[in-house]
Amino acid sequence: MTAQFKLLNLQQLTFDNRFCRELPADTNSSNSRRQVFNACYSRVMPTPVIKPERVAYSKEVAALLDLAPAACETDEFAQIMAGNRLAKGMEAYATCYGGHQFGQWAGQLGDGRAINLGEAINSRGQRLALQLKGAGPTPYSRNADGLAVLRSSVREFLCSEAMHHLGVPTTRALSLILTGEQVIRDMFYNGNPKAEPGAVVCRVAPSFTRFGHFQVLSARGELDNLRKLADYTIRTDFPHLGEPSPSVYITWFEEICRKTAEMIVHWQRVGFVHGVMNTDNMSILGLTIDYGPYGWLENYDPDWTPNTTDAGERRYRYGNQPSIAFWNLGQLANALYPLIEQAAPLQQAMDLYTKTFVQGWQAMMAAKLGLKNFDPATDEALCTELLDILQVVETDMTLFFRRLALLDTRDTKAILPILIQPLLDAYYVPGQLTPAYMARLEAWLRNYILRLLKDGNNDNRRANMNAVNPLYVLRNYLAQLAIDKAEQGDHTQVNELLEVLRHPYTEQSGKEMFAGKRPDWARQRAGCSMLSCSS
Ligand code: AMP
Ligand code: MG
Repeated sequence: MTAQFKLLNLQQLTFDNRFCRELPADTNSSNSRRQVFNACYSRVMPTPVIKPERVAYSKEVAALLDLAPAACETDEFAQIMAGNRLAKGMEAYATCYGGHQFGQWAGQLGDGRAINLGEAINSRGQRLALQLKGAGPTPYSRNADGLAVLRSSVREFLCSEAMHHLGVPTTRALSLILTGEQVIRDMFYNGNPKAEPGAVVCRVAPSFTRFGHFQVLSARGELDNLRKLADYTIRTDFPHLGEPSPSVYITWFEEICRKTAEMIVHWQRVGFVHGVMNTDNMSILGLTIDYGPYGWLENYDPDWTPNTTDAGERRYRYGNQPSIAFWNLGQLANALYPLIEQAAPLQQAMDLYTKTFVQGWQAMMAAKLGLKNFDPATDEALCTELLDILQVVETDMTLFFRRLALLDTRDTKAILPILIQPLLDAYYVPGQLTPAYMARLEAWLRNYILRLLKDGNNDNRRANMNAVNPLYVLRNYLAQLAIDKAEQGDHTQVNELLEVLRHPYTEQSGKEMFAGKRPDWARQRAGCSMLSCSS
């Protein structure tokens, strides 16, 4: 197959830096930490680093940008992606945003350790903003250093790409580069600082605009700038909505509500827990953004959060994600209110979030169970009972749904041991499988089989289920094993995980270890079940 267009290197990309061109810039050019008023961004150069070394890059993101694989393996690529120089057409800047953190208004936050490099336009005319994470301080760095460590950069890099391949809307990651420098971090904020390898990830997305970009302008009463940013966002990221006007602001907010609902349905489907759903970590495009102390459900537990910083309140636990997204949309609605000056349409859009989420969740659960449709008459009870059962004993969510596809529906009279055989692999503690539990599970399974039979002939049930129930997810302990190796200078496991996670729904021979339950040693180990915001 011949390429339809020429593959490029970074110097040959076409940039059209519309964010910089059309929005107000900070007039103070110093890179000092401060409040930045009357501006959407500040120009700031990345801080040069000693010895950039590529750990990994994503070939799909390179292809999206029309970059030749060989061009991503050069020293020049590592230099640019570590922030040591800009390629032709790039402009470096950090943006101003605010946000609610853990439910409290936190004022200005901003790109404290993200430096944007401009917007590349690919051969299909798609706009792709590039952003370095961990390339040094900006005016928004507050009291922190603007840097990132390898541990958290591996997690951001791998999870961005894993989520994409799972079909979850997300920002992408082009590259992961070591800086050759050390960064001091106190991982659990408990007085144990240590030096860790520094790294930079290059993130890629149509836009990195967050709810908090609108919030900060609204909170400061900078209504002209609020309107400018809204108009810019509609024209650039939502051009199909037409020219901005009060009614278009409403349809725009409706679309944000819908996209956010769709993203959350996906998170719930794959068992992803974001961990820090502050309003500054919510993308206006409904993309998963800012991979910090996120985690994947191992045993199904809606109360679980990976984020130790949130261990008390558990605001951002798995089961709370749908209502937190709703709350966050409410904060965005407040911020946009001055442009619309009517509460009712904003309220209706919020209702649309709920409706889209509920319908999406039902369709998603039906798909996970291999049903043709969600029939509320029977399936509400079916799902409620299943989700209860999954919590009674420690059950691996990913493996359970994957193994459920193996259930034999032809033999409706199969005895219990045969019936449940395919599922046994999903349990963590065999001793928990008491007769009472087994009876409850059996009742549910027989009910489920009857429900499947009612659906009629469905020869493709297994394939359909396997297309929505992943086999390979970025289990917390798998990421940690790859990090342990990478910290010793061995990058093979990062790259092997990246490769396996490209096909999360397809059984890959020889890759069984990536589909295994969390081993016992990982139950309480830092990085595996407990993470903090320190990154
Ligand atoms: P997060 O919790 O990652 O969403 O970050 C919240 C805010 O803190 C954002 O404004 C980040 O840019 C900023 N931030 C987090 N870590 C750092 C760091 N190491 N240096 C500078 N700013 C940071
Ligand atoms: Mg953030």
